[in-house]
Amino acid sequence: MRITTLGTSHGSHTMTRNNTSTLLETDGVGYLVDCGEPASGSYLRAGKDFGDLRALFVTHLHADHVGGLAQLTNMFKQGRGEDQTVTYCLPAEGIEPIHAYLQTLYMDPELRPITLELSGVEEGPCYEDERLRVTALPSGHLEGLGASYAERGLPNRGQAFSYVMELEGKRIAFSGDQPRDFRYLDRVVAEPLDLLVMEMTHIRPEEVLPWLADKPVAKLLLIHIWDPWHDAGEDVLREMCFEHLPFPFTIARDGTEIELL
Ligand SMILES: [Zn+2]
Ligand SMILES: [Zn+2]
Repeated sequence: MRITTLGTSHGSHTMTRNNTSTLLETDGVGYLVDCGEPASGSYLRAGKDFGDLRALFVTHLHADHVGGLAQLTNMFKQGRGEDQTVTYCLPAEGIEPIHAYLQTLYMDPELRPITLELSGVEEGPCYEDERLRVTALPSGHLEGLGASYAERGLPNRGQAFSYVMELEGKRIAFSGDQPRDFRYLDRVVAEPLDLLVMEMTHIRPEEVLPWLADKPVAKLLLIHIWDPWHDAGEDVLREMCFEHLPFPFTIARDGTEIELL
């Protein structure tokens, strides 16, 4: 299988990195994790076919993770028509508003050229097809924000997830955004992982890398990378990874591809 990091920045674009989006490909079928802007443009420029996409998994509803959803939906006019079904797995709190948003943009999910399904994610098993099985774990990223929105009477529930994916006999986890401590990450690495795709903005490398060293992780891919580790700072982060990690790692840039054999 191949993993392509379409966008590797955090909440803001920078001159060298766009918002978060990661593509997982197996057996000619593609799965996206998050679709921060400009996910569909980056997907196209990476030479990928919109007809190959099977599902999208959104970790949480911050704009840097979901801001490219409308244009991605639009690009399925280049898909396979009736022969293609795409499932958007979204935090359940987003199903109704995103359905209404797509309708407002003249892209009613029921009227797309492909079959588009919106599926609400809660903790637990959230997706399965003939190749892939996905389980959602809470990531804790929006715990505080969800509570303060609820106090104001707003409908936000503060849902945020990590996704554990099982395919080709391998286990891959996407951390999603995390709180600075490792209460939630601890569950993500509880079972052996062939690859951990981890954010590097809300957690500090000098804290998380030593903590990860004895966890059952075969390889680490860093995405959602904070400004100090962009450009020249990447060397500093790489040194810290070499110092602490007993397993291989990749600091992703936009367009990085890794093969997992
Ligand atoms: Zn983020
Ligand atoms: Zn976020």
